[in-house]
Amino acid sequence: MTFKELEIIEPILKALAAEGYSKPTPIQEQSIPILLKGRDLLGCAQTGTGKTAAFAIPILQHLYQKGKQHNGQRKIKALIVTPTRELAIQIADSFSTYGRYTGIRNTVIFGGVKQGPQVQTLKRGVDILVATPGRLLDLMNQGYISLKDIEYSVLDEADQMLDMGFIHDIKKIIAQLPSKRQSLFFSATMPPDIVKLSNKLLGNPQKVTI
Ligand code: AMP
Repeated sequence: MTFKELEIIEPILKALAAEGYSKPTPIQEQSIPILLKGRDLLGCAQTGTGKTAAFAIPILQHLYQKGKQHNGQRKIKALIVTPTRELAIQIADSFSTYGRYTGIRNTVIFGGVKQGPQVQTLKRGVDILVATPGRLLDLMNQGYISLKDIEYSVLDEADQMLDMGFIHDIKKIIAQLPSKRQSLFFSATMPPDIVKLSNKLLGNPQKVTI
């Protein structure tokens, strides 16, 4: 199986080739067709499997194809929530790498640093936001971020977020998402409280286990 056979568009194929990716990993091969069809996804997968590209590529592809309808001011159309600053930065870098020929813009926000520069970048307009839960909620509460135009939402490393005590923040974030959206949920483990949380986010998801 090749990325071309997965019907990935040319500007993304070019970026993947430049990265030296010769073929999709198993999670990419399974998830990309489901996501390109617009289905919700419940993924049981660890970091290191190629999980980030599995969700980043379809999101970039959808946003690129819809680009003409999104002219004018940029609004946040995809939200990725992840537990740590390190993961957030890695995910944003991946969007930048795979999306380098698409013109789609992302930014990353996390706590523990001054919010000013993050707010300035948000004001200039982005298509994709990668965030840790606390800072996201904080900037939402201050009116710097609205989730009303979100079309794609991703909860990454959900079990780790629950272990870190982010459950209330996550529930508040989910409550602000528009009902018409595509949702993705990734967790390395699937204990009952994770399954319960995934049911809040997802509608009739396809399951992928790696
Ligand atoms: P992740 O599980 O998303 O953290 O990805 C793990 C590593 O695999 C990252 O360093 C990616 O750059 C790399 N990677 C992802 N997909 C591919 C692929 N199809 N071929 C080669 N490397 C990949």
